[in-house]
Amino acid sequence: MSAHGTVSCANSRVCASSPDTASVQRDGQRRGTFRALRHRNYRLFFLGQMVSVVGSWVQLTALMWLAFHLTGTSRWPALVAAAQLIPGFLLGAWGGALADRRDERGYVRVDDQLRVAGETNVFAVGGVSDADRDMAGIASRQAALVAANIRTLITGEGELQSWETMPWMIAIPLGPEGGAGLLGDGVADAATISGLKGRDMGMGHFQTLFNAGVAA
Ligand SMILES: Cc1cc2nc3c(=O)[nH]c(=O)nc-3n(C[C@H](O)[C@H](O)[C@H](O)COP(=O)(O)OP(=O)(O)OC[C@H]3O[C@@H](n4cnc5c(N)ncnc54)[C@H](O)[C@@H]3O)c2cc1C
Repeated sequence: MSAHGTVSCANSRVCASSPDTASVQRDGQRRGTFRALRHRNYRLFFLGQMVSVVGSWVQLTALMWLAFHLTGTSRWPALVAAAQLIPGFLLGAWGGALADRRDERGYVRVDDQLRVAGETNVFAVGGVSDADRDMAGIASRQAALVAANIRTLITGEGELQSWETMPWMIAIPLGPEGGAGLLGDGVADAATISGLKGRDMGMGHFQTLFNAGVAA
């Protein structure tokens, strides 16, 4: 390539049939720009967007035309166009703040007391919150803590409680009497695991909680 960016060529017959560097680059850029269209789902989305966006613009043009036709002043078409932006302008910042409430995995961010980040009276527990792992036992304990915290907020008595990350727990029952597990402080034997889970799959706790009789 010369100092001016043009391609010089020692063999004119080869060069005559070879694309110069600039056209190869242009070709590459063109293919790069449209390479998303190789995917069927994106092509469908792209075509759908074309129809949708054209429809939106035709609608806006018609509305501005109507505004001018009815009022005879150029101010109203401008106001109609500006009105399209108002929802995004007003709700954009709020929507962004709302999106920030969730972490990159989609869990709702909570503080130590399981309050949704930036909120005083809104709590999140269990599968939606980023406080701990996704486990039924953890969700139940968090619910109890939040109930206590709400009571404290209402009555003004006592201190708000903080959530402490639970140690790892694995309980694998084998029938109603067998099984093994790991309960934070060490390996749990069959009697412990069956008492915790295998014998009634945890239903006893809920029967007591809801004052429900034993199912037939
Ligand atoms: C296959 C599997 C096995 C698991 N095994 C274990 C285990 O052995 N031990 C353990 O501790 N944990 C286990 N888990 C995890 C445990 O199930 C969850 O951590 C726990 O259920 C979370 O409880 P939660 O109340 O927060 O949410 P969920 O139990 O998911 O309850 C949320 C409820 O809200 C409802 N809902 C959602 N959106 C709306 C709406 N817009 N309007 C109204 N209702 C709505 C849903 O239908 C659902 O009933 C397991 C999970 C799975 C998927």
